[in-house]
Amino acid sequence: MDLSNRVAIVTGSGQGIGRAIALKLAEVGATIVLNDINEASVNSVAEEIRAMNRKSLVVMGDISSSSDVERLVETAMTTYGKIDILVNNAGITRDQLLLRMSEDDWDRVITINLKSVFLCTRAVLRHMTRQRWGRIINMASIIGIVGNAGQANYASAKAGIIGFTRSVAKEVASRGVTVNAIAPGFIDTPMTQQLKEGYRQELQKRIPVGYFGTPRDVAEAVAFLASEEAKYITGHVLNVDGGMAGV
Ligand code: NAD
Repeated sequence: MDLSNRVAIVTGSGQGIGRAIALKLAEVGATIVLNDINEASVNSVAEEIRAMNRKSLVVMGDISSSSDVERLVETAMTTYGKIDILVNNAGITRDQLLLRMSEDDWDRVITINLKSVFLCTRAVLRHMTRQRWGRIINMASIIGIVGNAGQANYASAKAGIIGFTRSVAKEVASRGVTVNAIAPGFIDTPMTQQLKEGYRQELQKRIPVGYFGTPRDVAEAVAFLASEEAKYITGHVLNVDGGMAGV
């Protein structure tokens, strides 16, 4: 895989899966536009990329805000002149059983996890369709396919991302732009490190390979979908889940 001369935006790239994606895409040659709401962490990823002798730019911003998203895309365009790859990675959880779930927990998860994908994709598509080449990779989740008690908001957002991916893929297929989703299972990141140890062990038993995945496992799949070699794959949901979806 060679992504030299490609410019990639990775949202939520200050830590976890987003950081691993940014580092992997940089490793195979891409210039990375990093985005997050946590300045310290995203600046340290930018330094790691510079140490690899690759270019990177940090654009702070909340991807659920349309003005922040416009600024992210415009800054990338004025700095590098094009956007080839968008990885819609940023996401949050606000877990609660439905009867106790507040309207705010619902709205925040839907807005940050799903509306953001609409905003960022719409903002880059104009540029990608004009250049007749683009790769959009959306971070869904296995929870959006199989569901999970306590995560009705998160599962709805992630299932929404899958429907969005399949629809937009059809809209732009003839313009050289592919739109795919990745559905990770349980991956060891700060998001899952919040889980109680007993619950983590219980989850581990539900993973056929027997262990949590690494952010790097997800990043490898993203790099493939972002490559020229993946040009005939669009509207697809790729499970990176140690076999979970099949059980
Ligand atoms: P994480 O919490 O470790 O990292 C998420 C990053 O996104 C953080 O750096 C955070 O500051 C940033 N972020 C949050 N809200 C933002 C906003 N409004 N604007 C910009 N940046 C924002 O999470 P992670 O585990 O690395 O997950 C990354 C993605 O993968 C998420 O979409 C998540 O739902 C998905 N996912 C994770 C797992 C898992 O097991 N970790 C499984 C399936 C899917």
